[in-house]
Parts: sequence; C-alpha cells; structure tokens
Amino acid sequence: MAMQANQSTATGGHRSRPQSLEDARARMLVQLEPVTMLERVAVRDALDRVLGADVVSPVAVPAHTNSAMDGYAVRGTDLPADGKAHLRMIGQSFAGHPFAGTVGAGECVRIMTGAVMPRASDTVVIQEDVERDGDTVRIGTGHRVGQHVRQAGEDIAQGATVLAAGRRIRVADVGLLASIGQVEVPVRRRLRVAFFSTGDELRSLGEPLGEGEIYDSNRYTLYGMLRHFGADTLDLGVVRDEPQALRAAFERAGAEADVVITSGGVSVGAADYIREVLAAVGEIGFWKVNMKPGKPIAFGRLHAGATFFGLPGNPVSAMVTFHQVVLPALDRLAGAAPRTPLALMVRASTALKKGSNRREFQRGYLETGADGALGVRSAAAQGSGILHSMSRANCFIVLPEDSGPVEAGQMVRVEPFTEWM
Ligand code: AMP
Ligand code: MG
Repeated sequence: MAMQANQSTATGGHRSRPQSLEDARARMLVQLEPVTMLERVAVRDALDRVLGADVVSPVAVPAHTNSAMDGYAVRGTDLPADGKAHLRMIGQSFAGHPFAGTVGAGECVRIMTGAVMPRASDTVVIQEDVERDGDTVRIGTGHRVGQHVRQAGEDIAQGATVLAAGRRIRVADVGLLASIGQVEVPVRRRLRVAFFSTGDELRSLGEPLGEGEIYDSNRYTLYGMLRHFGADTLDLGVVRDEPQALRAAFERAGAEADVVITSGGVSVGAADYIREVLAAVGEIGFWKVNMKPGKPIAFGRLHAGATFFGLPGNPVSAMVTFHQVVLPALDRLAGAAPRTPLALMVRASTALKKGSNRREFQRGYLETGADGALGVRSAAAQGSGILHSMSRANCFIVLPEDSGPVEAGQMVRVEPFTEWM
C-alpha cells in the first residue's frame, strides 16, 4: 500500500513540530498489513506464535462430571439436616476406573480426585469429614448439595472457541490446546527481520578498536529483542557511513526481509546519510516523535516491500524506540493485536529530574518497600548513551510531556519491563 503522500511534510520534515507518540503509532499501524501465510506446527512448538485461525474445541473439558476431592460420592438428598446420616458404601470410582453402577438412596461410593461421578450421585463429602466403619460411612451436617464436583464442560464447552485468531500463544494456551486434544495448530509464519548498524566509528565484536572507535552494541540488543519477539533475524553487520554501502545494504535487506531495522544516522549530522539514501530506495518519513530519548525516528516502506524503521544510534534510544514504536508494529505485521503495556501508578521513592517538554521514558527500578508498597526510583544516570540505565532497570518511568521534575513521594506512571528485554 502507498505511504501517505503528505507524510514527509506533515509528520516528518526536520523542521516540523514533533508528533505525539500516540499519533505516530496510529499513523504507522494503519499502514501495516499482517503477513498472510499460515503454517501448521505441533502444539508445543506453538509457544509465542500467532494463531492463524480460531481454535474450536471438538470436546468438552472436563469430558465427564468428576470429583474435585478424595472422599465419598453421595446423593444430595441423603445429606443430614441434623445428626448423622449412615450410608452404605457400594463401590469405588478411581480416576480412569469409573464405578459402573448407580448410587441409590442411603448409598455412597468411595471416590478419588478426577474420578467420574457415579450415576445418581451429585455431591462429594471429603474423606476427612466422614467416619468410616467397614462399609458404613457416617456423615454429619454442614455440607452443601453439589459440593466438590467439577461439571462436564465447566472449563471448555464442546464447540466453544478456545483461542481466537491473532492470539499470541502463551504457556497456559499450550496446555489448553493439549486439553482439547489438539495435535497441531495453524500459525502465521514468522516475521523475517533484517537489521544493521550504521557508523564509521563502530566495530563488531572480535575486532580491535582503533582511535575513536566503539563496539557496536545496538545489533546485540536488537538481536535479543527480536529473538524475544519471535522473529527470524538476518544480521547484516555494520555498514559504513557511505551512500553506496548503505544503498547496497538496503537493497539486500529489502529483498530478503519483511522488516528492515537500522540504527544510527537518522539525525541531521554531516555523516547522516540514511535520509538521502532512503529517498532512492523507498518512501520514507522522517519523524520527530515527542519522546525522550528517541527523537528522531524514521519509518516507511522500501520499494522492495519491506517495512523500514531507522532507530537513533544512541544505545538507550534504540532500545526505547524499539519498544515504544517498533514492537507494536511487529505485533501488527505478525498478525497479533499491537500490545499495550501494563501501566501502574507507583510512588517515586526518590526525586526525578525532568528537563524536557517531551514524554520521557526514564529507566526505573521498581521494588517493594519496607511497608510492602511498591516504589520506584531512578535506575541510573539517564543519558541516552548510558546503556547501564537499561541494564539496571526493570521498568520505564513515563513522565508526561507537560510534567516537571518529580518530588519523592509523588505518584508516577510506570511500565514494567516484560520479556522483550
Ligand atoms: P547517530 O545516531 O549515528 O548520530 O549516533 C548517535 C550516538 O550513538 C553516537 O555517539 C554513536 O557513536 C552512537 N552509536 C550509533 N550506533 C551505535 C551502535 N550500533 N552501538 C553503539 N553506539 C552507537
Ligand atoms: Mg552515526
């Protein structure tokens, strides 16, 4: 689909006003179409995959009405209103070995957890609550008709939709699928994501560092975040700040991947060629998003069809923009609903600086205080080059555009890190 024609002026030119993160996300999401190809995978390989079609249960779970406890299956009408009922035990029902007969008035059946409720019984009295003498079972008062019984279909009704298309399959879902006897499920194919770093100062691991050079860390955090997301990755290494090299990298990445992610070179420095090169290989908007760290960010589509994200080079900025902008887009492309982070209001246990009028994603550490209540503090120095702040953090502290510095004791919004880190 075509990029919006006015994008580079209305939303992106470096001189334009920054847009809110919500606007940027919304404008981006409407331009993305999920991958359509489905494949069938074994249920235990379906973890973290996106379900390609609704799964309807061919069976009820549990299949039979059964006991939730070890005890005695009785007829509710035999429960005594006062005194004790004396019931005759006529057999037993064990898990996998049901009782074949019917429970008559004044009778009971020894029953174990998970065993099928015998015909005409509707109530279980737990073994700790009875006195037993041979085949005579004495039951007192205080019981409720229907207690300790799990009804057939109480978890899943036959014909019910167990999981809907678009669901990202979690561990409990794998169990649910197994519980209905599902052997395989249809899932969307994995996204293929190519990425590279740009910058003449960057060296890959294993290379010696020359004067003024640094190790590339963004490719490593990107790889980790993409693996946690569940994408297939294609690491294209470090690309130098040279238009021809960048162009070749884009052409290769665009031909092989659904998504191309770069870091560095998206600002307006003299060696920031991404903008110029991209004009030739795709339709790209350079976006200023009103967030810190993270402005600017590039988004668009390569002529080859791949969706493109150009993240800022600073290591913290690259991680924050990945989380806030790229991750919801990857969800959409993968066929899932774009995630919305869990947000909590928590007391700041220390003061927090805020100098900008942008939305700040400060790196915080969420912990339980002596009083048992959650508190959050700054994880480390907040510079966008200080990757330690991500490493020490377990959440973002999200300070709104119009907020000033925060005093200790004030409530702040926190987004706990999830598995993508
Ligand atoms: P840039 O966005 O290219 O202007 O880079 C901004 C800052 O991030 C500079 O200090 C770069 O050296 C640094 N930087 C860029 N890319 C990386 C990377 N892949 N790993 C670590 N630092 C980087
Ligand atoms: Mg650079």
